[in-house]
Amino acid sequence: MFNLKTLVRQNILALQPYSSARDEFKGNDGVFLDANENPFGTLNRYPNSDQKILKQKLADYKKLSSNNIFVGNGSDEIIDLIYRIFCNPNQDKALTFTPTFGMYQVAADINAIELITLPLNDKFQINTDALTPYFNDDNLKLIFICSPNNPTGNCFNASDIEFILKNFKGIVVIDEAYADFSDRESWSKSFESYPNLIVTQTFSKAWALAAARIGIAYASKEIVQLLNKVKMPYNISQLNEKAAIEALDNRSTFESNKRIILEEKAKLIQELKTLDIIKKIYPSDANFLLVEVDDANQLYQNLVEQKVITRNRNSLVKNSIRITVGKPEENQQLIKALKNS
Ligand code: PMP
Repeated sequence: MFNLKTLVRQNILALQPYSSARDEFKGNDGVFLDANENPFGTLNRYPNSDQKILKQKLADYKKLSSNNIFVGNGSDEIIDLIYRIFCNPNQDKALTFTPTFGMYQVAADINAIELITLPLNDKFQINTDALTPYFNDDNLKLIFICSPNNPTGNCFNASDIEFILKNFKGIVVIDEAYADFSDRESWSKSFESYPNLIVTQTFSKAWALAAARIGIAYASKEIVQLLNKVKMPYNISQLNEKAAIEALDNRSTFESNKRIILEEKAKLIQELKTLDIIKKIYPSDANFLLVEVDDANQLYQNLVEQKVITRNRNSLVKNSIRITVGKPEENQQLIKALKNS
């Protein structure tokens, strides 16, 4: 049986979330002499520490309660916080399926946690038979599932994810950084059926706000409370919160940019198919394409010399290059550079 309290590190369970005198006062019309701020200027006050307005907008958009939403300084921060809540350094373990997003390993290393990596199969899907024996490891606290997966681009089979959610007694994190580009149903509300689930999403991709560093976690209110205990008091700057609120208020810009990116992706696939240099285009549910070429290291260099920067993923998937879908003229520049390579 899933039991949240037994999964949480003892020192974290005992913590109380940071609270300021202003949180207790609640109004906006006081004389604020409580936080050693400067009384002059426009960015002189500390921001609201619980991002109330942004969370309410997200709650309305997602048709969820704001108690089920956590806002992080990018989803990168959320990944780190999850390790810190659930994994005792030099004792507990996490698991993921490779090739995948590198931050699960980086955050594991920083927190002195062993990350078990199970290879995806030749269709880049999860091998659940290889995973099952690990369910008995009491020190395995977290499973990270990146879907759509970076760098392969595909979503994992819903039935495999469901199998993990049902059978793993620890926390399952589904990283949906690219889900806005996919037709597949998001898992962001599934914590209602699976209390061990945390879904992360981000404003960095489809919302065009990578510079603002806004990541979101959707989870049970008990897990959201734990994230609130561990985060830095002012993890989201007022400017960045405002940028995310404005993006949510201008949903038509988000929709039209997304449509252009998806149209450009379809065009790019057609054009890449005509080039001999491209051996394979892997199926993608994201805003990027993983392609196989004869010699990724050489091609990557040729493209850099023509000022087109892609991501050489040769070390993860042999002779592969990951290409982000850009603006129409950027994609044309890429095609031209590929033809010249
Ligand atoms: N998850 C995945 C799968 C990613 O590819 C990235 C960014 N490359 C992130 C998370 C990080 O997103 P954020 O900008 O929200 O930290």
